[in-house]
Amino acid sequence: MVQNENLGRIKCENCGRTDALDPKWKYNICKNCASEKIDEVFRVWATEILGFNEELREFLPQLPRDLFFLTLKDYISDNELKQKVDNALKSHPDTRYSSMDLKQIAKDEKEKLLTAGIPSQKVACDECNSYYDINGIWPYKICQKCALNEKYKWEDLWLSELGYDEEFSGIIPTPPIDIKKYRIDSTFNTESLGRSKTPMTKEAASRIQSHADKTETNQDFKARAMSAASKSSQKKK
Ligand SMILES: [Zn+2]
Ligand SMILES: [Zn+2]
Repeated sequence: MVQNENLGRIKCENCGRTDALDPKWKYNICKNCASEKIDEVFRVWATEILGFNEELREFLPQLPRDLFFLTLKDYISDNELKQKVDNALKSHPDTRYSSMDLKQIAKDEKEKLLTAGIPSQKVACDECNSYYDINGIWPYKICQKCALNEKYKWEDLWLSELGYDEEFSGIIPTPPIDIKKYRIDSTFNTESLGRSKTPMTKEAASRIQSHADKTETNQDFKARAMSAASKSSQKKK
């Protein structure tokens, strides 16, 4: 770290701004620049590896710790410590670390999330009734499109609360959206999905049927949807 003539202040090697010295901060770039670097890597993680819109940030799994560390390791300010870290990585028995294969590490983390989470399957969205995939990465009762809508609605609500109009969307920070309420709970079963708010209607069931017909998949789910629809229409009588 470059020590300034003003004692107790340091200069960021990336943006050149000076900042108050924080003995716990071991990097030669400021916290803002570090967080920008992490954001860049998160963007790749969210879009290229997981295949999502990065705007869904709050809904997505965090950047794996290894990637976090490896992204910042080149900015360690103490040369001796940096050398130590580099040597440890170079001699690491795991070739992903010795060759710094960040993409492979990310892909393996994705695989872990998929195998540890809820089994992958197609379900109807609680909001729009359209079909989407749930799995260990997307364990939500709503589809990605509706999730994005919920996020924008939440942000607009806060913007108006704070006295801004929509053109400030994405510029003015708002409190993070609570994603827990959209999560499928651990005791979930697909029968209860899409039924919590609106009972399965014949219209929804036929939409599922036409979807199933088109894709020729989910025949089992289709059958359950049709029987749920006839049950709920019987109840109305
Ligand atoms: Zn900086
Ligand atoms: Zn939806």
